[in-house]
Amino acid sequence: MTKTGAGEPGPGAGKVPEQQRFIAEPDRAEGDVADPHPQSPDPRLLADVALDVPGRDSYSYLVPDALAGDLAVGDCVLVPFGRRSERGFVCAIERRAPPAGVTLKTIASRRDDVRLPAGLLGLIRWGARYYRCSLGEFLAAAVPAPVRDGARMEVARTVEPIADFAGTLTKRQREVLAKLPAAATPFADVLRLAGTTAGTIERLAEAGALRIASTSGIQELRLAARDEDFPLTAEQQTAVDAVGEALAAGRHEPFLLYGVTGSGKTLVYLELARRTIAAGKQVLLLLPEIALTPQLAARVRRRIERVAVWHSGFTDGERAEQWRRVARGDVDLVVGTRSALFAPLPRPGLIIVDEEHEQSYKQESVPRYHARDLAMVYGGQIGAPVLLGSATPSLESVHNGRAGRYRVLTLRQRPLGGKLPTPIVIDMREECQAQHKRAEVSRELMTRLRAVRAAGEQAIVLLNRRGWSPVVSCQECGHTLMCPNCDISLTWHKGANRVRCHYCDHSTALPKRCPACQQEALSTFGLGTEQLAAVLAAEVPDLRVLRVDADTVGERQGHAKLFGAFAEGAADCLVGTQMVAKGLDFPRVTLVGIVCADRGLSVPDFRAAERTFQLIAQVSGRAGRGERPGTVVVQAFDVHALPLTAALEHTPRRFYDSELQLRREYGYPPFSGLVRILWSGPDAVKVQLAAEEHALALKAAAGDATILGPNPAGLSFLKGQHRWHALIKAPSRGAAQAFLGRLDQAGGLSAKHAVRVAIDVDPYQTT
Ligand code: ADP
Ligand code: ZN
Repeated sequence: MTKTGAGEPGPGAGKVPEQQRFIAEPDRAEGDVADPHPQSPDPRLLADVALDVPGRDSYSYLVPDALAGDLAVGDCVLVPFGRRSERGFVCAIERRAPPAGVTLKTIASRRDDVRLPAGLLGLIRWGARYYRCSLGEFLAAAVPAPVRDGARMEVARTVEPIADFAGTLTKRQREVLAKLPAAATPFADVLRLAGTTAGTIERLAEAGALRIASTSGIQELRLAARDEDFPLTAEQQTAVDAVGEALAAGRHEPFLLYGVTGSGKTLVYLELARRTIAAGKQVLLLLPEIALTPQLAARVRRRIERVAVWHSGFTDGERAEQWRRVARGDVDLVVGTRSALFAPLPRPGLIIVDEEHEQSYKQESVPRYHARDLAMVYGGQIGAPVLLGSATPSLESVHNGRAGRYRVLTLRQRPLGGKLPTPIVIDMREECQAQHKRAEVSRELMTRLRAVRAAGEQAIVLLNRRGWSPVVSCQECGHTLMCPNCDISLTWHKGANRVRCHYCDHSTALPKRCPACQQEALSTFGLGTEQLAAVLAAEVPDLRVLRVDADTVGERQGHAKLFGAFAEGAADCLVGTQMVAKGLDFPRVTLVGIVCADRGLSVPDFRAAERTFQLIAQVSGRAGRGERPGTVVVQAFDVHALPLTAALEHTPRRFYDSELQLRREYGYPPFSGLVRILWSGPDAVKVQLAAEEHALALKAAAGDATILGPNPAGLSFLKGQHRWHALIKAPSRGAAQAFLGRLDQAGGLSAKHAVRVAIDVDPYQTT
């Protein structure tokens, strides 16, 4: 940490000392500078500012007279910090005597168009404490950088001559006009072409000789949506009434909308959104995937006019403008992925978390928050109902429902009378015997794809692995091509003709010879989406295959384009990774294929069974959503695995009962609170030593918690970093927080040279 010249720690820091000093700081508080001329102890107007630095929550600054009148909590300010200037947020303002012996610096300036709503600041404050980072670090993640930096939208102006203009012009004006292209041309290009000034062009526009148009406005892809003005089903109505009651009372209440795939959860959301807006409040609608936003946004826009889509695909200027629009109250509904939770809505009245079971709600970098869990806290703080929706709720939410903490609203029927798809399970051991080879795709799936093609219907085939082949190894010596930066085998991407690491993106050309034995005996093993798409296209005549995975999606809103094309019938079969499993509503899809359905079960993670169950139930749910019934063809080796059979036979209860029992027995969430500590660094020995030394501190603070490890992480080498981890299992989330508090009291985990220590509260990645 560098020595800086900022002010004293603010009261914000003083109020949460245990948590914020979890990673030990140097003895001398950062930034305190002894003052040769002690200030008068007269009370002064001081502001506590949260800065994007680890450790302390806030630093005190003097408020300049120019701002004294209207500086408010939530304002974004620029302050001197050490030798730099930093942007931060005012989190307290108070008239008090500066402490003797400390020179306080003064706020340099304030951004006039950014002020965090108080409710949002309250949420972020809570989040910083719970997830153990400084308030400023959390704010920096929650408020996009372009907002803090005051980015403006690039307004593109175009110039277009008016064809039948007959007015009088000066000679010079006529010369300029003659040089202009007939079509609309960007303003800057016009100046260059005509060799003239902006003033001249503007006067020509005033004279009526040309038109200047601004193409401002946030550019985004808009999909068409079908009309959905159906009367609600009885089940939908019951759900709407239950939440509507809490809404009308302005009361927080947690709900779990547990509705099978295609049961019309979205319509429930939309009706509740309408009611919230009619009551003068705003709606937050969270989705797990950016891929789902355009489709849902389109459905929302048919009913609600002032909608903001919140995602990372915008330019800086667009993003900042979006934020300011929302903060001004010009938006009634914000739809977006996890960070949309921090949209600065002035009066949020309803929070909806769709597909609440999805792991993408968990952020895997600081701050490591879980958006669903924070949404629940937010609702409690601002007195708003929170509606979690899923066809395959998380074990946590099912447990909360059973314990009576959430009110469970169920949708058992598909409104169109559509039946849940019929499963056909293929035992791939038998299939391989029958085909006399290592079969990847069953004959059943092929036959059914042909039938889909013939009937003019559509299919989705899931394989949760991209690339052509996940393994390249030598048939002579057995050597497997590995990533030099990770303990991971390289995947062959045939189209790109490269082998690639899916963790760090390292890639090289496929070597001709085995790097170990120099023989020309490298061969590929296993199946990825790239190869599967090729196989299907080759085996099923005229099948138009569209592949959707991280490789084909790449660019800005790429998935929206691919899904849009599929919805319009540009392909018969969508092949892809879990991206194709979620939330999409294509009424013409009658067949879903799942290749390697039990693959996820072998992952060493206590959530492996839950994830497999959810993935299979979700992707099967893509079939038969329209009038025609659906079929699911599932290929697996372990065809009797419970997550598989429960998902396919639509008997989720069997899965939840058994899995909750196992979680209880082994002390995993929801029956415990977990914290994961991860040590990482380029030097294996240093990482191990740090972990072993910190283990003593962890054990000393253990109390009623169990410390598992430290030991090498499942992915023991990743992106050039060696990794060790420890898992703390406490009897509850509260107990886990108490453990962290005790650890803090004892001085936290000392800083170690060249070793990063990450604390992950309620971790989802455990490898
Ligand atoms: P979910 O979000 O639960 O997967 P959707 O909201 O996408 O389900 O609804 C599935 C399909 O059923 C959609 O095509 C939707 O338009 C239709 N639908 C929903 N509610 C009704 C209703 N009350 N009457 C008729 N059709 C409905
Ligand atoms: Zn790698």
